[in-house]
Amino acid sequence: MQLELDIVRAAPQRPRVVASAVLRRHRLMNDVLRRVAYVRRFFPELEGETITVGLTRAASGMAVPGGTRIWLNPSRLTYHTIAHELIHLLQRRDLGIPSGEKACDVFSLARHWTLNDDRPSYIKVPLGLLDDRGVLSDRQARLVFAVAHEAVAQRAGGMRNYISFFEYELARQCDAQDSPHRSALRLLHTV
Ligand SMILES: [Zn+2]
Repeated sequence: MQLELDIVRAAPQRPRVVASAVLRRHRLMNDVLRRVAYVRRFFPELEGETITVGLTRAASGMAVPGGTRIWLNPSRLTYHTIAHELIHLLQRRDLGIPSGEKACDVFSLARHWTLNDDRPSYIKVPLGLLDDRGVLSDRQARLVFAVAHEAVAQRAGGMRNYISFFEYELARQCDAQDSPHRSALRLLHTV
């Protein structure tokens, strides 16, 4: 009996991401599941749970807070959207992640910089953060991650307005980043 228990403990259930019946009929199913599996690596809280992924065309994504189901739009799918929806699954679980869309944005941007490939929908970020193609460069993605990580840490330390802190601090650091660049450009124009 003891041996059987040990075997069960030695083989934990593999985390799974499964497609809903509707997504299973979609030509981009494999791409969607692969992306969700990548993002899920940064969500150890979901270990051992099966996440079901469905389709939505009404929004870029949807989720039931505290649940195990998300819906994604394959035609405009970003890592950020997936991370945002997975954070919703962690809300209402006593994990210290507050409810609300803005909280969801900040917490999702604080997971890993490679997931920061798009602008969030609810919190303010400087327009200049995106490059000419409308995407975040690696450098900017790391900056967003660092500021979001700091905001989450500040909240854990008791800061109540950590969302405002994120918005203000990101804007400030973007300006600071810009300044030497602009000065260099001005210099170029004068010579
Ligand atoms: Zn949301």
